[in-house]
Amino acid sequence: HGQKGAKMNVALIIIGDELLSGQTQDCNMLYLGKKLRKVGHALKTVVVIEDQEEQISEAFNYYLDHFDLVFCSGGLGPTKDDRTKKALAHFLQTELQENQDAYRLTELHYERRGLTWKPELNHYHVLPKGVRPVENPFGLAPGLQVRKNKATLLCAPGVPREFEGMVDNFIQASDLFTVKTERKTFTIRTQGIPEEQIFNQKCPDLWEALTAFGEVSSYPRFTGIDIVISNIRHSEDDLRKKISQLPEIAPINDYIWHLGNGALEQLIVEHGKNNNLTISSAESCTGGLIAHLITSISGSSDVFNGTVVSYANSAKINLIHVYEQTIQQFGAVSEEVAREMAEGAKKVLGTDYAVSTSGVAGPLGGSAEKPVGTVAIAIAGPKETISKLIHIPRIFDRAEMKERFAAKAMVKLFKQMKLGR
Ligand code: ATP
Ligand code: MG
Repeated sequence: HGQKGAKMNVALIIIGDELLSGQTQDCNMLYLGKKLRKVGHALKTVVVIEDQEEQISEAFNYYLDHFDLVFCSGGLGPTKDDRTKKALAHFLQTELQENQDAYRLTELHYERRGLTWKPELNHYHVLPKGVRPVENPFGLAPGLQVRKNKATLLCAPGVPREFEGMVDNFIQASDLFTVKTERKTFTIRTQGIPEEQIFNQKCPDLWEALTAFGEVSSYPRFTGIDIVISNIRHSEDDLRKKISQLPEIAPINDYIWHLGNGALEQLIVEHGKNNNLTISSAESCTGGLIAHLITSISGSSDVFNGTVVSYANSAKINLIHVYEQTIQQFGAVSEEVAREMAEGAKKVLGTDYAVSTSGVAGPLGGSAEKPVGTVAIAIAGPKETISKLIHIPRIFDRAEMKERFAAKAMVKLFKQMKLGR
């Protein structure tokens, strides 16, 4: 029970009708599971329950009896459906009472936002007797911490940013966790080849070879298959060298677009910055999504000049100088039009590179020749323009199609940038 170094039994109680009714998707299990894994522990079980005092208090009763550490998310706010504190008081068979530390914490939380708190506003300063208030690094309502028999309970707000901040602080401060620094991972990032071809056909010995460096797993992403090695013992640079020299990986070299971690948009911006390169885009079917992803990265203004959302043919013709005749002859979704779009954006926006997309995201608008999921992607660079028509299976909805189109285009852009072409 909760011994230092030994694996703890950890549970999460998630409170919220809106989660059970499908109005909100839970993020807190995802975060906690990942976080615990990174510090060498594991989430054993998760339960989602209604905003009902009795149910919450029964959950405390059961989980604090069967687990060493219990996290609880939600129900700390100021509204009627926030019943965690009452349920906790009930479970501890104690009273709610004003707490000086909670009073001061709440004042601090409000001051931090430039607001003034008064006890008439809510009951943030009222806690079950014997319960410790916990600072909320990103919100207003304090959290709660209490030990009961041999188990520890941390109640945090449901708002993901607040839950995450409170969990992080708890793990940092708690002597239940001996590992504070997160275990590192290393990613081998591929595109254009399915998992079974990598591991069963081209590289049957790869998985085994990689286990020498850590724990191996494989994940399909919008950008292709990511092979992740976790709990690595080498530095990222060391591992990059060792892995690129593995004979077992050679057969998929052409499909690998990056050895290492980081979001694709982050890698694009970093590479652009380090090599003094500028980028623009001309987006039809992705409707500005590429620009959105790249501009989500701080510092992207050094690299990214802009996008032209050339959705209608007239926009393609008037804004980035696609020839009307090219559209008539080959259709808007064609290698020829994508090529002119990329070259047009590169010229109009004055950049070293431009990426373009023109495709059919569906569900309507496909034809026999160019079904839903067809996309033409072009990259214009300092040395050449490449353009390709790609087919993505039509099992995805429109939003997911757009994300897949954008990911494909951005991987191609990144590859061309790394080649300097
Ligand atoms: P608040 O002080 O904001 O009321 P709270 O602790 O009472 O915080 P809830 O009322 O349960 O938390 O949830 C507040 C909001 O946070 C919800 O409307 C929801 O959008 C979001 N939220 C709550 N729980 C989760 C969760 N598990 N995953 C993702 N979002 C959540
Ligand atoms: Mg609430």
